[in-house]
Amino acid sequence: MKTIIEPFRIKSVEPIRQTTRAERERLVAAAGYNLFQLHASDILIDLLTDSGTSAMSTEQWAAMMRGDESYAGSESFYRLKQRVQAITGFKHVIPAHQGRAAERILFTVMCKPGCVVPNNTHFDTTRANIEFTGARAVDLPRPEAADTQLRIPFKGDLDVAALERLIESEGAGRIPLAMVTVTNNSGGGQPVSLANIQAIRDITARHGIPFYIDACRFAENAWFIRQDEAGYAGWSPLDIARKMFSLADGCTFSAKKDAFANIGGFLCTNDDRLAELEQNLLILTEGFPTYGGLAGRDLDAIAVGLEEVLDPDYLQYRIASTAYVGRHIADRGVPIVEPPGGHAIYIDAGRMLPHIPRGEFPAQSLAVELYRHAGVRSVEIGSVMFGANARHELLRLAIPRRVYTQSHMDYLVEAILEVNERKHELRGYAIAHEPPFLRHFTATFRPL
Ligand SMILES: *Cc1c(COP(=O)(O)O)cnc(C)c1O
Repeated sequence: MKTIIEPFRIKSVEPIRQTTRAERERLVAAAGYNLFQLHASDILIDLLTDSGTSAMSTEQWAAMMRGDESYAGSESFYRLKQRVQAITGFKHVIPAHQGRAAERILFTVMCKPGCVVPNNTHFDTTRANIEFTGARAVDLPRPEAADTQLRIPFKGDLDVAALERLIESEGAGRIPLAMVTVTNNSGGGQPVSLANIQAIRDITARHGIPFYIDACRFAENAWFIRQDEAGYAGWSPLDIARKMFSLADGCTFSAKKDAFANIGGFLCTNDDRLAELEQNLLILTEGFPTYGGLAGRDLDAIAVGLEEVLDPDYLQYRIASTAYVGRHIADRGVPIVEPPGGHAIYIDAGRMLPHIPRGEFPAQSLAVELYRHAGVRSVEIGSVMFGANARHELLRLAIPRRVYTQSHMDYLVEAILEVNERKHELRGYAIAHEPPFLRHFTATFRPL
């Protein structure tokens, strides 16, 4: 059989609400044309983010009932630790309430002013937490990633020649750690090859620089390696994940992505001295080291999710369903970041709407129209979010895990294609009001 189906059936349903175009026009105007300001109940299909929005399984809900809420020494923690170690092999597992809490602790312990931390592309919270310590976060994506239309595998790879040059110019002593983000979220959800991870390991080891993986989507990355990297077709996702982690000294992880949990994260390291410093900080702001700001039941949900996400049937469906949306719109003329990534499709709105200049936010215009037309919420990743630093004007459609069905995706494809037919009618926006930082969350807009 060629048809790839959702490898689950539905036991509990959550109704979603249809609205009329007239209602949505009124609602989005009242929200200042900022989709973050809408009530979730006014949205039909919510593709704002894949973070914390997964559907949990029956086994995860059952595990939550087993959660051990002991302050110290909770069994839930030991179950999580065992599962994380079985996948990553790391010695110390430090739970935290989400990925950014793990990042804050890691960088507080490892970075100081004047330091430099390279990554393929830093996620926004990663960059912010590095810069908060006074260190500098440097993105080193491979040069081909700049061309959104280029269709090559492993477009998320780090530019290892640029890493060598950075070490040469800064000196290894100024680089407390190097990172790689799998998959490369800010770079289009593109995967990183094992060959690239191995090359980063070799270079950093030669210079005595610790190497960490931002592992939020490690399982999706493992599937791309199995699918597209020579030599891994017969490997299980678990074995590929083990190999990825075996090349690193530690990792940060947001359980809101590939662990199907609604909250949670952790930090891992093999370094006893660092682990002690990290646990001391953890106690200060997150909690005792066997719960780290989470309930025992959350730790159990994450432990089960980490096992489920490595199921080959799930990963095949997940990557295929994202690619399905991407191919169906791109092959009918909607420019996307090619090739489709793991967790999201990014429409290149700058290319799709050349009549709207960057300063009038083409991706914001597309986001508003997709909501007005079909009740779909997406997010602008361009000049609204990054100001003058934006590299492209993208609209991200992030796909929550195990939440929407094939018919939801068909509806989405139809909606995008219909908006594309009338794209010449779309107009730009001006900012009416903006806060001093992170303006995309609360800014309001005025149609031009
Ligand atoms: C989501 C994410 C984070 C931060 O995790 P939170 O749980 O949202 O704090 C860090 N890195 C990447 C690549 C992410 O996608």
